[in-house]
Amino acid sequence: MNPDLERVIALQRLDSAAHDAQRRLAEAPERAKALDARLETAKEHVASAKARLTDNQNARRTVEKDVALHQGRLSKFREQAMAVKTNQEYHAVQKEIGFAQAEIKVHEDKILERMLEADELTALVKRSEKELAEEQKAVEADRKAMMSEHGELQASLGRIAADRKGLVEALDPQVLAIFELISKRRNGVAVAEARDGICTICHVRLRPQVFNNVRRNDTIIQCDSCQRILFFVPAPATATPAVTHPAR
Ligand SMILES: [Zn+2]
Repeated sequence: MNPDLERVIALQRLDSAAHDAQRRLAEAPERAKALDARLETAKEHVASAKARLTDNQNARRTVEKDVALHQGRLSKFREQAMAVKTNQEYHAVQKEIGFAQAEIKVHEDKILERMLEADELTALVKRSEKELAEEQKAVEADRKAMMSEHGELQASLGRIAADRKGLVEALDPQVLAIFELISKRRNGVAVAEARDGICTICHVRLRPQVFNNVRRNDTIIQCDSCQRILFFVPAPATATPAVTHPAR
């Protein structure tokens, strides 16, 4: 293969790898935000469960005050019952006592409901706290993985820049100029494989003579349509007995 063509292909590989690495690095703030959001959601679940438990406890306290109120009235009526003078008064006080007892019963049932609900809510608080702890662990692990990936990407960008410098220095300046121009115009992709007579990137059919020349890989040929530098990948050799039977 023409050495400059080889260099141009290698250059494209580096540029594409650098482009991918940079895009991945650019996604980092968005990914960090998604991790924060996951944590935030888990925290909200805990806060909401705790708020519901507090509401439940407040509601129970209110009902308990009502019970105390009715119990106060009940003892007052019982005292009155001791001091009644007439049958009519007795019946009136008994009626009030019955009423207060019924009220106490209703409110005690409400307290029982609240207590059952409190059990469920306490379990919910525990469950959501456990989930938060798990989410914190998972997010921490993801964050570490992200940071290590970040470091690897930065390192690979450094290697790519060094390799690129070497390739650019070795490359014919005219070929480099073509490469840089097409790369700028064509979204960072200046090289295209030609396969079955077609430019695999712009999908335009090459003239047969052009394709024949490209197949030889011995000169810099640009696609008539997209101007990318074309190369050809020969079909791999099907049998390699020297490798399959090294003992022979
Ligand atoms: Zn093309």
